[in-house]
Amino acid sequence: MLRTFAYVRPGSVSEALKQLEERGARIHAGGTDLLGCLRDGVFEAKKVVSLARVDELRGIAVGPDGELRLGALTTIGEIAAHPVITEKFTALAQAASLVASPQLRNQGTIGGNLCQRPRCWYFRGDYHCTRKGGDLCYAIGGENQYHAIFGGGACWIVHPSDTAPALVALDAKVRIIGPKGARVIPLEKFFVLPDEDATRETALEAGEMVLGVLVPPGAPGQQSSYRKVRARGSWDFAMGGLAMARSMKAGKVADARIVLSGVAPAPWRLHAVEKLLIGQRIDAKLIAKAADAAVVGAKPLEHNEYKLALVRGLIEEALSA
Ligand SMILES: Cc1cc2nc3c(=O)[nH]c(=O)nc-3n(C[C@H](O)[C@H](O)[C@H](O)COP(=O)(O)OP(=O)(O)OC[C@H]3O[C@@H](n4cnc5c(N)ncnc54)[C@H](O)[C@@H]3O)c2cc1C
Repeated sequence: MLRTFAYVRPGSVSEALKQLEERGARIHAGGTDLLGCLRDGVFEAKKVVSLARVDELRGIAVGPDGELRLGALTTIGEIAAHPVITEKFTALAQAASLVASPQLRNQGTIGGNLCQRPRCWYFRGDYHCTRKGGDLCYAIGGENQYHAIFGGGACWIVHPSDTAPALVALDAKVRIIGPKGARVIPLEKFFVLPDEDATRETALEAGEMVLGVLVPPGAPGQQSSYRKVRARGSWDFAMGGLAMARSMKAGKVADARIVLSGVAPAPWRLHAVEKLLIGQRIDAKLIAKAADAAVVGAKPLEHNEYKLALVRGLIEEALSA
């Protein structure tokens, strides 16, 4: 049952920050994740701070230098349909278009997509797991077919966002504001692995909120893509996915950033594969080496060993393309 909570709709970021000072206050953007969590008792809220009236958080802009600027309240649907994003930040447009269903894309926001809570059925269910402050990750000895193969440890969730890996591949930064002021950090550093803290997914401190996302224009000729594999043809979270941004020079890879979704508690960057590719001409031998390197360090659980082949296949497909 949904517990009672106070509900406020501030009209500006500064008013929202004041409201967030209270312990137990939760941000409500599109509400597509928050309301489910509250209804299912995943966590509680004393106060829900709606951002619906904070218009300064809306919108998509492209700076004179080609930098893409997304307000936190920009909907996933707006991102998927934006012509500049489709053309120049293709991985992001592709990832956004593969998020959930049209209704959820129209309601869900980019800020909410980056801050959504994991979908692990033990975390969402009635289990006092490590992510809820308990001392056991029930996935380790349980139903773990959709769980992580990288970066586990105290908790084996996979990060649920499709836009996050695309944005990390595009080297995005996140704008944050809170009681101590504003800061901008690489999105890659925004996500927290269980080794650091298994009870939270982001670097947000108490009272902080995401203002927006900045995406650099990338090197001339940069191309990017996002491929998502789901258990079924309809909307679903990623069993695995691969975001890649790369640029070529004289037939060789000049730069590459490769990030996996659906296999780790945070978007999972394949530094070793990137290193292998840079400066090389892509051929069958290199692709095979890259596929091998992609799964080094993976620790599959009892029911998700298939993700090793999935990751290899994603690499082979992306590099062959
Ligand atoms: C059935 C279903 C299927 C889905 N499938 C996918 C999928 O395939 N791929 C995918 O990526 N996602 C998927 N999602 C998740 C969905 O995309 C997210 O729920 C949505 O993006 C969250 O955005 P929102 O604006 O509704 O966030 P809200 O529900 O309002 O908030 C989500 C969380 O983020 C926090 N938050 C929101 N905005 C901010 C901010 N500006 N600063 C700090 N914290 C903030 C909230 O406090 C809350 O904890 C699915 C969701 C559902 C319900």
